[in-house]
Amino acid sequence: MKTLALAALALGLAAVPFAAQAAEPPRWSVAIHGGAGTLSRADMTPEREAEYRAALQGALAAASAILAAGGSAMDAVEAAIVLMEDDPKFNAGRGAVFTWDGRNELDAAIMDGATRAAGAATGVTSIRNPIRLARAILRDGRHVFLSGAGAEQFAAERGLETAPPDYFATEPRRRALERMKAEQISALEVDLKFGTVGAVARDAAGHLAAGTSTGGMTGKRWGRIGDSPVIGAGTYADDRACAVSATGSGEYFIRTAAAHEICARIRLAGEAPQGAADAVIAEIGALGGEGGVILMTPAGEALFSFNSSGMYRGRADSTGVNEVAIFAADAE
Ligand code: ASP
Repeated sequence: MKTLALAALALGLAAVPFAAQAAEPPRWSVAIHGGAGTLSRADMTPEREAEYRAALQGALAAASAILAAGGSAMDAVEAAIVLMEDDPKFNAGRGAVFTWDGRNELDAAIMDGATRAAGAATGVTSIRNPIRLARAILRDGRHVFLSGAGAEQFAAERGLETAPPDYFATEPRRRALERMKAEQISALEVDLKFGTVGAVARDAAGHLAAGTSTGGMTGKRWGRIGDSPVIGAGTYADDRACAVSATGSGEYFIRTAAAHEICARIRLAGEAPQGAADAVIAEIGALGGEGGVILMTPAGEALFSFNSSGMYRGRADSTGVNEVAIFAADAE
């Protein structure tokens, strides 16, 4: 962060604290997350923290470069997510959590706030970048949500890159499943529960986009589908209100239709975006759920709300904001 602040000062830009953004609305803006959950500093070595921060910075930089060059919010969201899908630290693409049966089943969704076109896929096992599959489904336009074998067949017809099961499987995630089984603990109690990834962006043309990609929750069974690929639950974008990507215990985000609920509160009830996000996260907490959201407003304000002790997150915009954070206390 210090390096970034110094770089910003060298460029003549004010360093902006994480809790507030510049008064001038940005031309473009992006926010990302790499998962939320219970995390204490004691669990994190300085090396590991540096690796996560660098990965988040890399994803922010890819999205920022696209937006700064006048590219679309959709392209920026896709680019940020592809990088995190390829990174085994995150629970998306390579490094996804294991199902009860020892497989990696991937979910992803993307939504265009300008048109409210959306694409989503669930339960795919061989698509290297599920977010690209979601985008291809959106582009095709006939359907919004494809599952399993059908989604894979669609991906093959579109020539999307595939990968063998070994590509997605990593040892730390396999150990998390083994521990879950041996100790009979829940997905929220296993190590490495973090890592779903998401991005929201506002481009220079004023359009919003949101995307989310995940392996779901460790030990999921029976073709379980989480909130991430469910449009309106874990992912939603509407130029009139907001773009949202969620992470956390997906069942609660589905039950509250969290991403759409936040946008509806802003659009129909005139609620302030931070208040709308906080209210829905509080509702999820009251029901017993844990997690958070990243939110982008039509004015390019990037906001975060979460009820867990940590959420891997970051944001950058055209005014020089460029920051990543992990723990709740990082916002202060
Ligand atoms: N929300 C994801 C799911 O329930 C998991 C997560 O965000 O960690 O599938």
